[in-house]
Amino acid sequence: MKATTQYLILLSFDCLSSHDIPILEELPNFRRLMQTGTTCKNVETIYPSLTYPCHTSIVTGNYPKRHGITSNTLLQPGKSSPDWYWHRHHIEGTTLYDEAKKAGLKTAAFLWPVTAKGDIDYHMPEIFANRSYHHQIPVSLFNGSFFYQLEMNRRFGKLRKGLQQPHLDDFVLESAAYTIKAKKPNLMLVHFTDLDTQRHYHGVSSNEAKAALRRHDERLGKILEAVEVSGLKEQTTIAALGDHSALDECKAVKPNTILKEMGLLEVNAKGNVSNWAAYCKSCDGSAYIYAKNDDSRLDSRLLEHFKVLSQDGSNGIERVLTREEASEKGADPNASLMLEASLGFYFSESYEGDYIDTITQKDVDSKKYTWASHGYSPDKPDYQTVLILSGSGIAKNKILPSMRLVDEGPTFARLLGLNLGETDGTVQEGFFI
Ligand SMILES: [Zn+2]
Repeated sequence: MKATTQYLILLSFDCLSSHDIPILEELPNFRRLMQTGTTCKNVETIYPSLTYPCHTSIVTGNYPKRHGITSNTLLQPGKSSPDWYWHRHHIEGTTLYDEAKKAGLKTAAFLWPVTAKGDIDYHMPEIFANRSYHHQIPVSLFNGSFFYQLEMNRRFGKLRKGLQQPHLDDFVLESAAYTIKAKKPNLMLVHFTDLDTQRHYHGVSSNEAKAALRRHDERLGKILEAVEVSGLKEQTTIAALGDHSALDECKAVKPNTILKEMGLLEVNAKGNVSNWAAYCKSCDGSAYIYAKNDDSRLDSRLLEHFKVLSQDGSNGIERVLTREEASEKGADPNASLMLEASLGFYFSESYEGDYIDTITQKDVDSKKYTWASHGYSPDKPDYQTVLILSGSGIAKNKILPSMRLVDEGPTFARLLGLNLGETDGTVQEGFFI
């Protein structure tokens, strides 16, 4: 297949939402990108709409049940900080960066989820030290390009303050801009999390979130500038995209307290899980209920119990999905059932205390809870994300009415003349000249 561009840069602005468009239209760099390209303001995300499953859907063109990244973190009952799906090996099937590499293209990735130890030429993976005996710098170095990351740390490391925002995105930005100019990768994946972080801790429409959008516009400007300086502007295509939206919440729901009451989850005197037959894995706006053993009677009991609970709106459960219904929406078919939170609620994995907590500022300051989250069903109102494409091969000043997140991978593959094979998503011809 013939490529329509030689250089493709994907800029993921985590949590960039359709309702941000009026603000983006007032910001110089986003406005310029929209005017010179094609915009879809109505991109349907995937279920559960969490960052790791979303980013994997973007690079595979498949729903979570097919690519295998069904949540951000692994099922590790009772672990206060479960491990994330950091590594490429968790993904089933091929990805955009694997196909690019196979075709002999040069690849780069900066904090793109689920790429650790992936075969990427200039690679700074998103992985953090999750054990008391691990240190952040070596964890990053050994899971990505060792010497290249040492160089980026030497050049720009002074910008970062651990994993804190907005410093982390500024470090990523400078590393990416430098790499565009010095290494000229054919495919570059960049993941910025400033906006998502501000929304979690200050709310969807907070001033802090708006300030993050302005910082993102400046970051976009610096990437556009780096492309100009590289001398490859005419052969380059830029995508600015979001992975999901977010919704405000004021109450945290704890289904594991119910499973404990039902005798399906046992906790010892130290407060640790000692045994479990069923466990709720939170995906924030939604939650999986897993049964340890294949047991249709237990499945029915759980379904009945949560259906009754969901009938009272104050319990925070908008919908209970059977295994089949969750699977139809592209979520993990191995869960016994799935819960969708009502507006204003989200799920916590905690099994201590009351079934529902009202969130306070103190809870948010201590990072026990947040003021906004995602993970909800793509059907939630006002919950779409966006994709702006501009540059080589892309139609100018055009609007595409709607598409799905899973359509992005095949569309990006087409741009580079690659093929992801048979995917859930389809190429969106409307973007092309
Ligand atoms: Zn995200």
